Amino acid sequence: MRIAKVRSWIGFVSLFGILLAAYFEFPFSGCSYLRLGFLRLVCPVGFIETTLATKSIIWPLVPGFLIICVLIFLFGRAYCSWICPAAQAGQKSITFLGKFLPPSFMKGTRRKWQRTRSHLSAKLQLDYQDGIALFLGVAVGILVFGYPFFCLFCPIGVISRNLIELATHYSVRMDLILLFFPLFLGLLFRSGWKCMCPVGTLRGLVARSNHTLVPLKNPRLCNSCRKCERICPSGLSPHLGIVDPSKCVKCLRCVDECPKSALSIAVWNK
Ligand code: SF4
Ligand code: SF4
Repeated sequence: MRIAKVRSWIGFVSLFGILLAAYFEFPFSGCSYLRLGFLRLVCPVGFIETTLATKSIIWPLVPGFLIICVLIFLFGRAYCSWICPAAQAGQKSITFLGKFLPPSFMKGTRRKWQRTRSHLSAKLQLDYQDGIALFLGVAVGILVFGYPFFCLFCPIGVISRNLIELATHYSVRMDLILLFFPLFLGLLFRSGWKCMCPVGTLRGLVARSNHTLVPLKNPRLCNSCRKCERICPSGLSPHLGIVDPSKCVKCLRCVDECPKSALSIAVWNK
C-alpha cells in the first residue's frame, strides 16, 4: 500500500478518535491533553505556555511532557504530517471539496495560492529561523502578560475544540473563523504555516538530533529529476542526501513519489 494511503488512514483515525473520545467523555482535550491513569500527556507548547503564564512548574504534567519529548526524539516531527488534527482536517477538507469542484478549478487555486506564497515570502524573506523568533516572541509575551494566548489561535486547538463541540453538542464554534489567522500567516513564510507553527517549531527544536525514518538516496537510481524537492512540503532536497530533522515532517512523500524508486526509508541514519 502506498504510504500516502496509510498516512491518510492514520489521519482519519486521529480525527475520528477525538470525536469518539469526546462522545464517550474520555478525560482529554483534543491533542492538547490526555490523562492515562496517573500519566498526563500534554502538548509540549501547552506545557511551556502554562509554565510561563503561571511562572511555576506544574509537576504532575512533567512526566507526560518528558515522554512527549522522548517520542519527538524517536520519531522527529512525524506528528506534524501523520497526526496533527489541523493538518489532517485541512487535507481532508481539500479532498472533500475536490469531489464537488472541477479539477481545473482546484489545480488553478492551488497554483495561485503557491504563487502568492512564493511571491510574498520572497519579498519578506521569512523562513524557519523567523518561525523560531516568532516562537520566542510568543513565549516572552506569555511571560509578560501571564496569559497563554497562543492556545486561542492554535489551529490544533481550534480544530480539536470544534470536533469536541460537534461530538457533544452537534454544532461548531465561532472560533473556527480564527483559522484564517494561520492561513494568512502561512502565506508569508517560505514553506507555509509549518515554517512558523509554534507546535512544529518546538518539535523541530527537540527533533534536531533525530536520526530515525530518514529518506535515503540510492545514487545509482537517482536521475536528479528533483521531483522529491518539488513535492517536499518542508522545502527540503532529499536528492542531495541531506534532510534536516528539525524541518522534515516524515511524511515520506519523497519516498512514495520518486519516479525511480531511488529513495528508501532508513530506520536509523547517522
Ligand atoms: S525524485 Fe527520485 S530520481 Fe528524482 S531527484 Fe529525487 S531521488 Fe532522484
Ligand atoms: S524530506 Fe521527504 S519525508 Fe521529509 S518532509 Fe520532505 S517529502 Fe516529507
